[in-house]
Amino acid sequence: MNRRDFSFRLAGAVGALSLGNSRLGAAAFGEVLQGNVALRVNGDRINQHLTALSEFGKNPYGGVSRVAYSEFDKQGRTYVMGLMREAGLETSIDVAGNIIGKRAGSNPSLKPLLFGSHIDSVPDGGNYDGDVGVLSSIEVARTFREKGITTRHPIEVVIFSNEEGGTVGSRAMVGDLTEKDLDLVAASGKTWRDGMRFLGGDPTRLTAPLKRKGDYAAYVELHIEQGGTLEEDGINIGVVEGIVGIGRWEMVVDGFSNHAGTTPMNKRKDALLAASKFIQMVNRVVTAEPGRQVGTVGKIAVVPNAPNVIPGKVTATLEIRDLDGAKIQRLGNRCIDEAKKIGAENGTTFSFTQTHNLKPAIMTRSVQQAIEASAKSIGLTTKYLPSGAGHDAQHVAEITPTGMIFCPSVGGISHSPKEFTKPQDVANGANVLLQTILALDAK
Ligand SMILES: [Zn+2]
Repeated sequence: MNRRDFSFRLAGAVGALSLGNSRLGAAAFGEVLQGNVALRVNGDRINQHLTALSEFGKNPYGGVSRVAYSEFDKQGRTYVMGLMREAGLETSIDVAGNIIGKRAGSNPSLKPLLFGSHIDSVPDGGNYDGDVGVLSSIEVARTFREKGITTRHPIEVVIFSNEEGGTVGSRAMVGDLTEKDLDLVAASGKTWRDGMRFLGGDPTRLTAPLKRKGDYAAYVELHIEQGGTLEEDGINIGVVEGIVGIGRWEMVVDGFSNHAGTTPMNKRKDALLAASKFIQMVNRVVTAEPGRQVGTVGKIAVVPNAPNVIPGKVTATLEIRDLDGAKIQRLGNRCIDEAKKIGAENGTTFSFTQTHNLKPAIMTRSVQQAIEASAKSIGLTTKYLPSGAGHDAQHVAEITPTGMIFCPSVGGISHSPKEFTKPQDVANGANVLLQTILALDAK
Protein backbone atom coordinates (compact mmCIF):
# COMPACT_ATOMS: atom_id res chain seq x y z
CA MET A 1 0.00 0.00 0.00
CA ASN A 2 1.15 3.57 -0.47
CA ARG A 3 2.30 5.82 2.33
CA ARG A 4 -0.90 7.80 2.52
CA ASP A 5 -2.94 4.65 2.77
CA PHE A 6 -0.54 3.39 5.40
CA SER A 7 -0.85 6.55 7.44
CA PHE A 8 -4.61 6.36 7.45
CA ARG A 9 -4.58 2.73 8.45
CA LEU A 10 -2.08 3.35 11.16
CA ALA A 11 -4.01 6.37 12.32
CA GLY A 12 -7.15 4.36 12.58
CA ALA A 13 -5.55 1.35 14.16
CA VAL A 14 -3.24 2.82 16.74
CA GLY A 15 -4.82 5.72 18.51
CA ALA A 16 -1.76 7.50 19.85
CA LEU A 17 0.13 6.88 16.64
CA SER A 18 -2.40 8.83 14.67
CA LEU A 19 0.09 11.65 14.36
CA GLY A 20 0.56 10.33 10.82
CA ASN A 21 3.18 11.83 8.48
CA SER A 22 3.92 15.27 7.13
CA ARG A 23 1.14 15.07 4.54
CA LEU A 24 -1.28 14.85 7.39
CA GLY A 25 0.34 17.76 9.13
CA ALA A 26 2.36 16.25 11.98
CA ALA A 27 5.74 16.81 10.42
CA ALA A 28 8.10 16.13 13.29
CA PHE A 29 6.64 12.85 14.40
CA GLY A 30 6.10 11.80 10.80
CA GLU A 31 9.83 11.98 10.16
CA VAL A 32 10.57 9.73 13.13
CA LEU A 33 7.86 7.28 12.15
CA GLN A 34 9.04 7.15 8.57
CA GLY A 35 12.58 6.43 9.69
CA ASN A 36 11.48 3.67 12.01
CA VAL A 37 9.24 2.01 9.45
CA ALA A 38 12.38 1.40 7.37
CA LEU A 39 14.14 -0.22 10.33
CA ARG A 40 14.77 -3.98 9.99
CA VAL A 41 16.32 -6.70 12.11
CA ASN A 42 19.14 -8.88 10.80
CA GLY A 43 17.13 -11.98 9.86
CA ASP A 44 20.20 -14.05 8.98
CA ARG A 45 21.60 -13.48 12.43
CA ILE A 46 18.41 -14.70 14.15
CA ASN A 47 18.45 -17.86 12.03
CA GLN A 48 22.13 -18.45 12.84
CA HIS A 49 21.31 -18.10 16.52
CA LEU A 50 18.43 -20.56 16.13
CA THR A 51 20.85 -23.11 14.70
CA ALA A 52 23.38 -22.45 17.45
CA LEU A 53 20.75 -22.77 20.21
CA SER A 54 19.54 -26.08 18.73
CA GLU A 55 22.90 -27.63 19.70
CA PHE A 56 21.94 -27.54 23.39
CA GLY A 57 19.95 -30.69 24.05
CA LYS A 58 20.11 -31.79 20.40
CA ASN A 59 18.19 -35.04 19.89
CA PRO A 60 18.93 -37.70 17.24
CA TYR A 61 15.78 -36.78 15.25
CA GLY A 62 16.87 -33.25 14.35
CA GLY A 63 15.16 -31.41 17.19
CA VAL A 64 15.94 -30.76 20.85
CA SER A 65 15.10 -32.35 24.18
CA ARG A 66 15.90 -29.29 26.27
CA VAL A 67 13.42 -29.90 29.05
CA ALA A 68 13.11 -27.36 31.85
CA TYR A 69 15.62 -27.48 34.70
CA SER A 70 17.89 -29.94 32.84
CA GLU A 71 21.62 -29.45 32.29
CA PHE A 72 20.85 -28.66 28.62
CA ASP A 73 18.31 -26.05 29.68
CA LYS A 74 20.96 -24.39 31.82
CA GLN A 75 23.53 -24.49 28.99
CA GLY A 76 21.04 -23.01 26.52
CA ARG A 77 20.22 -20.24 28.99
CA THR A 78 23.90 -19.44 29.46
CA TYR A 79 24.32 -19.18 25.69
CA VAL A 80 21.28 -16.93 25.31
CA MET A 81 22.31 -14.70 28.21
CA GLY A 82 25.57 -14.12 26.34
CA LEU A 83 23.56 -12.98 23.29
CA MET A 84 21.54 -10.67 25.53
CA ARG A 85 24.67 -8.99 26.83
CA GLU A 86 25.98 -8.59 23.25
CA ALA A 87 22.67 -6.91 22.47
CA GLY A 88 23.30 -4.37 25.21
CA LEU A 89 20.90 -5.87 27.75
CA GLU A 90 21.70 -6.02 31.43
CA THR A 91 20.79 -9.56 32.48
CA SER A 92 19.47 -10.93 35.75
CA ILE A 93 17.57 -14.00 36.96
CA ASP A 94 14.46 -13.49 39.05
CA VAL A 95 13.47 -15.73 41.97
CA ALA A 96 11.40 -18.01 39.67
CA GLY A 97 14.36 -18.57 37.34
CA ASN A 98 13.08 -16.23 34.61
CA ILE A 99 15.86 -14.41 32.75
CA ILE A 100 15.33 -10.68 32.35
CA GLY A 101 17.45 -8.45 30.10
CA LYS A 102 16.98 -4.72 30.63
CA ARG A 103 17.82 -1.60 28.66
CA ALA A 104 16.98 1.88 29.91
CA GLY A 105 14.63 4.18 28.03
CA SER A 106 14.84 7.94 27.62
CA ASN A 107 11.88 8.64 29.91
CA PRO A 108 12.47 7.15 33.38
CA SER A 109 8.89 7.81 34.43
CA LEU A 110 7.53 5.27 31.92
CA LYS A 111 7.01 1.57 32.74
CA PRO A 112 8.98 -0.99 30.73
CA LEU A 113 7.79 -2.66 27.55
CA LEU A 114 8.22 -6.42 28.10
CA PHE A 115 8.73 -8.93 25.27
CA GLY A 116 10.11 -12.46 25.02
CA SER A 117 9.11 -16.14 25.22
CA HIS A 118 10.81 -19.36 26.45
CA ILE A 119 13.63 -21.69 25.39
CA ASP A 120 12.76 -24.90 27.26
CA SER A 121 11.27 -27.65 25.08
CA VAL A 122 9.06 -30.72 25.42
CA PRO A 123 10.94 -34.06 25.36
CA ASP A 124 11.80 -34.77 21.68
CA GLY A 125 10.67 -31.29 20.71
CA GLY A 126 11.69 -28.99 17.85
CA ASN A 127 13.93 -25.97 17.33
CA TYR A 128 11.34 -23.19 16.93
CA ASP A 129 8.76 -23.34 19.71
CA GLY A 130 9.74 -20.55 22.10
CA ASP A 131 13.20 -20.07 20.57
CA VAL A 132 11.92 -17.92 17.68
CA GLY A 133 10.34 -15.46 20.10
CA VAL A 134 13.34 -15.28 22.42
CA LEU A 135 16.02 -14.91 19.75
CA SER A 136 13.91 -12.38 17.82
CA SER A 137 13.36 -10.35 20.98
CA ILE A 138 17.10 -10.22 21.61
CA GLU A 139 17.63 -9.26 17.96
CA VAL A 140 15.15 -6.39 18.32
CA ALA A 141 17.13 -5.05 21.30
CA ARG A 142 20.38 -5.50 19.37
CA THR A 143 18.95 -3.64 16.36
CA PHE A 144 18.00 -0.72 18.61
CA ARG A 145 21.52 -0.65 19.95
CA GLU A 146 23.20 -0.92 16.55
CA LYS A 147 21.02 1.80 15.01
CA GLY A 148 21.42 4.07 18.00
CA ILE A 149 17.74 4.04 18.89
CA THR A 150 16.73 4.73 22.46
CA THR A 151 13.11 3.94 23.15
CA ARG A 152 11.13 6.21 25.46
CA HIS A 153 10.10 3.27 27.63
CA PRO A 154 12.69 1.02 29.21
CA ILE A 155 12.67 -2.36 27.46
CA GLU A 156 12.85 -5.80 29.10
CA VAL A 157 13.42 -9.05 27.23
CA VAL A 158 12.14 -12.02 29.24
CA ILE A 159 12.89 -15.73 28.94
CA PHE A 160 10.27 -17.48 31.01
CA SER A 161 11.39 -20.63 32.85
CA ASN A 162 9.64 -23.98 32.41
CA GLU A 163 6.96 -22.94 29.94
CA GLU A 164 6.37 -26.44 28.63
CA GLY A 165 5.87 -27.95 32.08
CA GLY A 166 2.97 -25.63 32.92
CA THR A 167 3.91 -21.98 32.12
CA VAL A 168 5.62 -21.97 35.51
CA GLY A 169 7.78 -18.85 35.19
CA SER A 170 4.99 -16.61 33.95
CA ARG A 171 2.58 -17.91 36.58
CA ALA A 172 5.19 -17.18 39.23
CA MET A 173 5.57 -13.68 37.84
CA VAL A 174 1.87 -12.86 38.26
CA GLY A 175 1.47 -14.78 41.52
CA ASP A 176 -0.50 -17.78 40.22
CA LEU A 177 1.60 -20.49 41.90
CA THR A 178 0.83 -22.16 45.21
CA GLU A 179 3.29 -23.64 47.67
CA LYS A 180 1.95 -27.08 46.69
CA ASP A 181 2.61 -26.44 42.98
CA LEU A 182 6.30 -26.10 43.77
CA ASP A 183 6.41 -29.81 44.70
CA LEU A 184 5.25 -30.88 41.23
CA VAL A 185 7.91 -32.78 39.31
CA ALA A 186 9.13 -31.50 35.94
CA ALA A 187 10.18 -33.61 32.92
CA SER A 188 13.80 -33.32 34.08
CA GLY A 189 12.91 -35.16 37.31
CA LYS A 190 13.40 -32.12 39.53
CA THR A 191 10.57 -30.52 41.47
CA TRP A 192 9.66 -27.02 40.35
CA ARG A 193 11.16 -25.79 43.61
CA ASP A 194 14.51 -27.53 43.05
CA GLY A 195 14.42 -26.57 39.37
CA MET A 196 14.07 -22.88 40.10
CA ARG A 197 16.99 -23.09 42.49
CA PHE A 198 19.01 -25.01 39.86
CA LEU A 199 18.48 -22.13 37.41
CA GLY A 200 19.62 -19.53 39.92
CA GLY A 201 16.24 -18.59 41.37
CA ASP A 202 15.09 -18.60 44.99
CA PRO A 203 11.63 -20.20 45.42
CA THR A 204 11.58 -19.36 49.16
CA ARG A 205 10.99 -15.77 48.05
CA LEU A 206 7.97 -16.64 45.91
CA THR A 207 5.55 -15.60 48.62
CA ALA A 208 3.97 -12.76 46.62
CA PRO A 209 3.47 -11.92 42.93
CA LEU A 210 6.77 -10.79 41.39
CA LYS A 211 4.94 -8.22 39.26
CA ARG A 212 1.62 -6.47 39.61
CA LYS A 213 -0.80 -4.50 37.51
CA GLY A 214 0.87 -1.31 36.38
CA ASP A 215 4.44 -2.65 36.57
CA TYR A 216 4.68 -2.94 32.76
CA ALA A 217 3.44 -0.81 29.88
CA ALA A 218 2.70 -3.90 27.73
CA TYR A 219 3.82 -7.44 26.88
CA VAL A 220 4.30 -8.76 23.35
CA GLU A 221 5.19 -12.37 22.50
CA LEU A 222 6.25 -13.61 19.08
CA HIS A 223 5.70 -17.37 18.67
CA ILE A 224 5.32 -19.96 15.93
CA GLU A 225 1.67 -20.69 15.16
CA GLN A 226 1.93 -24.45 15.92
CA GLY A 227 -1.10 -24.92 13.68
CA GLY A 228 -1.37 -24.82 9.89
CA THR A 229 -3.77 -21.91 9.27
CA LEU A 230 -1.24 -19.25 8.20
CA GLU A 231 0.67 -21.55 5.87
CA GLU A 232 -2.50 -22.94 4.28
CA ASP A 233 -3.91 -19.46 3.69
CA GLY A 234 -0.57 -18.04 2.50
CA ILE A 235 -0.61 -15.35 5.21
CA ASN A 236 2.61 -13.88 6.68
CA ILE A 237 1.55 -12.93 10.21
CA GLY A 238 -1.09 -14.06 12.66
CA VAL A 239 -2.54 -11.50 15.06
CA VAL A 240 -3.64 -13.53 18.06
CA GLU A 241 -7.09 -12.59 19.35
CA GLY A 242 -6.72 -14.64 22.47
CA ILE A 243 -5.71 -17.94 23.95
CA VAL A 244 -8.62 -20.33 24.08
CA GLY A 245 -10.25 -21.41 27.30
CA ILE A 246 -10.53 -25.10 28.11
CA GLY A 247 -13.49 -26.95 29.56
CA ARG A 248 -12.74 -30.54 30.48
CA TRP A 249 -15.00 -33.18 31.96
CA GLU A 250 -14.42 -36.72 33.20
CA MET A 251 -17.19 -39.01 32.12
CA VAL A 252 -18.25 -42.39 33.48
CA VAL A 253 -20.68 -44.63 31.61
CA ASP A 254 -22.16 -47.41 33.74
CA GLY A 255 -23.62 -50.40 31.97
CA PHE A 256 -23.59 -54.08 32.87
CA SER A 257 -20.81 -56.60 32.18
CA ASN A 258 -22.18 -59.88 30.94
CA HIS A 259 -21.29 -62.86 28.75
CA ALA A 260 -20.68 -61.77 25.17
CA GLY A 261 -21.89 -65.12 23.83
CA THR A 262 -25.04 -65.77 25.81
CA THR A 263 -26.55 -62.27 26.23
CA PRO A 264 -28.98 -61.45 23.37
CA MET A 265 -28.49 -58.14 21.62
CA ASN A 266 -31.72 -56.67 23.02
CA LYS A 267 -30.79 -57.50 26.62
CA ARG A 268 -27.45 -55.67 26.75
CA LYS A 269 -26.36 -52.60 28.69
CA ASP A 270 -23.20 -51.98 26.68
CA ALA A 271 -21.26 -49.03 28.10
CA LEU A 272 -18.83 -48.88 25.18
CA LEU A 273 -21.62 -48.84 22.61
CA ALA A 274 -23.13 -45.87 24.49
CA ALA A 275 -19.73 -44.18 24.68
CA SER A 276 -19.20 -44.60 20.94
CA LYS A 277 -22.55 -42.89 20.30
CA PHE A 278 -21.44 -40.15 22.69
CA ILE A 279 -18.22 -39.56 20.71
CA GLN A 280 -20.17 -39.23 17.44
CA MET A 281 -22.63 -36.88 19.13
CA VAL A 282 -19.86 -34.59 20.49
CA ASN A 283 -18.54 -34.14 16.98
CA ARG A 284 -22.04 -33.32 15.73
CA VAL A 285 -22.81 -30.83 18.51
CA VAL A 286 -19.48 -29.01 18.19
CA THR A 287 -19.69 -28.67 14.39
CA ALA A 288 -23.40 -27.79 14.35
CA GLU A 289 -22.81 -24.07 14.78
CA PRO A 290 -20.42 -21.64 13.10
CA GLY A 291 -17.19 -20.76 14.88
CA ARG A 292 -13.74 -22.11 15.64
CA GLN A 293 -14.67 -24.16 18.71
CA VAL A 294 -13.16 -27.63 18.97
CA GLY A 295 -14.38 -30.65 20.94
CA THR A 296 -12.50 -33.86 21.63
CA VAL A 297 -12.94 -37.19 23.36
CA GLY A 298 -9.25 -37.96 23.70
CA LYS A 299 -9.01 -40.52 26.46
CA ILE A 300 -11.04 -43.65 27.03
CA ALA A 301 -10.80 -46.80 29.17
CA VAL A 302 -13.04 -49.86 29.03
CA VAL A 303 -13.83 -52.25 31.88
CA PRO A 304 -13.23 -55.15 31.83
CA ASN A 305 -11.67 -54.71 28.34
CA ALA A 306 -11.97 -58.37 27.34
CA PRO A 307 -13.01 -59.81 23.96
CA ASN A 308 -15.73 -62.03 25.39
CA VAL A 309 -17.32 -59.65 27.89
CA ILE A 310 -19.86 -56.89 27.20
CA PRO A 311 -18.22 -53.65 28.42
CA GLY A 312 -19.77 -52.78 31.77
CA LYS A 313 -18.05 -49.50 32.38
CA VAL A 314 -16.29 -46.81 30.37
CA THR A 315 -14.39 -43.79 31.60
CA ALA A 316 -13.54 -41.05 29.13
CA THR A 317 -12.85 -37.34 28.85
CA LEU A 318 -14.64 -34.57 27.04
CA GLU A 319 -12.69 -31.41 26.22
CA ILE A 320 -14.00 -28.25 24.55
CA ARG A 321 -11.89 -25.19 23.65
CA ASP A 322 -12.92 -21.77 22.41
CA LEU A 323 -12.22 -18.07 22.87
CA ASP A 324 -15.69 -17.68 24.39
CA GLY A 325 -15.93 -19.20 27.86
CA ALA A 326 -19.75 -19.12 27.85
CA LYS A 327 -19.82 -21.06 24.59
CA ILE A 328 -17.57 -23.75 26.09
CA GLN A 329 -20.00 -24.25 28.97
CA ARG A 330 -23.06 -24.15 26.71
CA LEU A 331 -21.65 -26.81 24.34
CA GLY A 332 -20.48 -28.90 27.29
CA ASN A 333 -23.97 -28.78 28.81
CA ARG A 334 -25.53 -29.75 25.50
CA CYS A 335 -23.25 -32.80 25.24
CA ILE A 336 -24.21 -33.79 28.79
CA ASP A 337 -27.94 -33.46 28.00
CA GLU A 338 -27.57 -35.50 24.82
CA ALA A 339 -25.60 -38.14 26.74
CA LYS A 340 -28.56 -38.69 29.08
CA LYS A 341 -30.74 -39.49 26.06
CA ILE A 342 -28.17 -41.93 24.70
CA GLY A 343 -28.04 -43.63 28.11
CA ALA A 344 -31.83 -43.92 28.31
CA GLU A 345 -31.89 -45.67 24.93
CA ASN A 346 -29.62 -48.57 25.95
CA GLY A 347 -29.96 -48.86 29.71
CA THR A 348 -26.70 -47.15 30.64
CA THR A 349 -26.11 -44.11 32.82
CA PHE A 350 -23.73 -41.25 32.15
CA SER A 351 -22.19 -39.11 34.86
CA PHE A 352 -19.87 -36.13 34.44
CA THR A 353 -17.42 -34.23 36.63
CA GLN A 354 -15.93 -31.00 35.33
CA THR A 355 -12.20 -31.09 36.06
CA HIS A 356 -11.01 -27.99 34.16
CA ASN A 357 -12.57 -24.61 33.58
CA LEU A 358 -9.67 -22.56 32.27
CA LYS A 359 -10.86 -19.13 31.21
CA PRO A 360 -9.91 -17.80 27.77
CA ALA A 361 -7.24 -15.08 27.83
CA ILE A 362 -8.28 -12.32 25.46
CA MET A 363 -5.42 -10.30 24.00
CA THR A 364 -5.66 -6.51 24.39
CA ARG A 365 -7.40 -4.90 21.44
CA SER A 366 -5.01 -1.93 21.16
CA VAL A 367 -1.99 -4.26 21.12
CA GLN A 368 -3.65 -6.44 18.45
CA GLN A 369 -4.21 -3.31 16.38
CA ALA A 370 -0.59 -2.19 16.85
CA ILE A 371 0.57 -5.62 15.61
CA GLU A 372 -1.71 -5.52 12.58
CA ALA A 373 -0.74 -1.96 11.65
CA SER A 374 2.96 -2.77 12.12
CA ALA A 375 2.78 -5.83 9.86
CA LYS A 376 0.90 -3.92 7.18
CA SER A 377 3.34 -1.00 7.37
CA ILE A 378 6.12 -3.30 6.21
CA GLY A 379 4.01 -4.95 3.50
CA LEU A 380 3.06 -8.19 5.27
CA THR A 381 -0.34 -9.85 5.16
CA THR A 382 -2.17 -10.58 8.41
CA LYS A 383 -4.99 -12.66 9.77
CA TYR A 384 -6.71 -12.59 13.16
CA LEU A 385 -6.81 -16.01 14.81
CA PRO A 386 -7.10 -17.67 18.22
CA SER A 387 -4.31 -19.68 19.82
CA GLY A 388 -5.39 -23.24 20.56
CA ALA A 389 -2.22 -23.79 22.59
CA GLY A 390 -1.36 -22.22 25.94
CA HIS A 391 1.37 -19.57 26.24
CA ASP A 392 3.05 -17.44 28.90
CA ALA A 393 1.15 -14.49 27.41
CA GLN A 394 -2.13 -15.78 28.88
CA HIS A 395 -0.79 -15.20 32.40
CA VAL A 396 1.07 -11.97 31.72
CA ALA A 397 -2.24 -10.67 30.30
CA GLU A 398 -3.53 -10.63 33.90
CA ILE A 399 -1.22 -7.73 34.76
CA THR A 400 -0.58 -5.75 31.57
CA PRO A 401 -1.93 -5.06 28.05
CA THR A 402 -0.76 -8.10 26.04
CA GLY A 403 -0.53 -9.23 22.43
CA MET A 404 0.88 -12.16 20.49
CA ILE A 405 2.35 -12.37 16.99
CA PHE A 406 2.29 -15.70 15.17
CA CYS A 407 4.53 -16.70 12.27
CA PRO A 408 3.73 -19.71 10.06
CA SER A 409 4.59 -23.29 11.04
CA VAL A 410 5.26 -25.50 8.01
CA GLY A 411 2.59 -28.20 7.88
CA GLY A 412 1.22 -26.98 11.20
CA ILE A 413 3.67 -29.36 12.95
CA SER A 414 4.86 -28.57 16.46
CA HIS A 415 6.19 -30.27 19.60
CA SER A 416 8.09 -32.46 17.14
CA PRO A 417 11.60 -32.52 15.67
CA LYS A 418 9.84 -31.86 12.32
CA GLU A 419 8.71 -28.44 13.57
CA PHE A 420 9.90 -25.82 11.04
CA THR A 421 9.43 -22.15 10.30
CA LYS A 422 11.06 -20.75 7.15
CA PRO A 423 13.95 -18.30 7.76
CA GLN A 424 12.08 -15.50 5.96
CA ASP A 425 9.01 -16.09 8.15
CA VAL A 426 11.20 -15.89 11.27
CA ALA A 427 12.64 -12.58 10.03
CA ASN A 428 9.14 -11.28 9.21
CA GLY A 429 7.94 -12.13 12.70
CA ALA A 430 10.92 -10.36 14.25
CA ASN A 431 10.37 -7.26 12.10
CA VAL A 432 6.73 -7.11 13.16
CA LEU A 433 7.83 -7.45 16.78
CA LEU A 434 10.29 -4.58 16.27
CA GLN A 435 7.67 -2.34 14.65
CA THR A 436 5.10 -3.23 17.31
CA ILE A 437 7.49 -2.29 20.11
CA LEU A 438 8.18 1.02 18.37
CA ALA A 439 4.46 1.64 17.93
CA LEU A 440 3.73 0.90 21.59
CA ASP A 441 6.70 3.01 22.60
CA ALA A 442 5.24 5.98 20.72
CA LYS A 443 2.05 5.79 22.77
ZN1 LIG B 1 5.98 -22.30 23.20
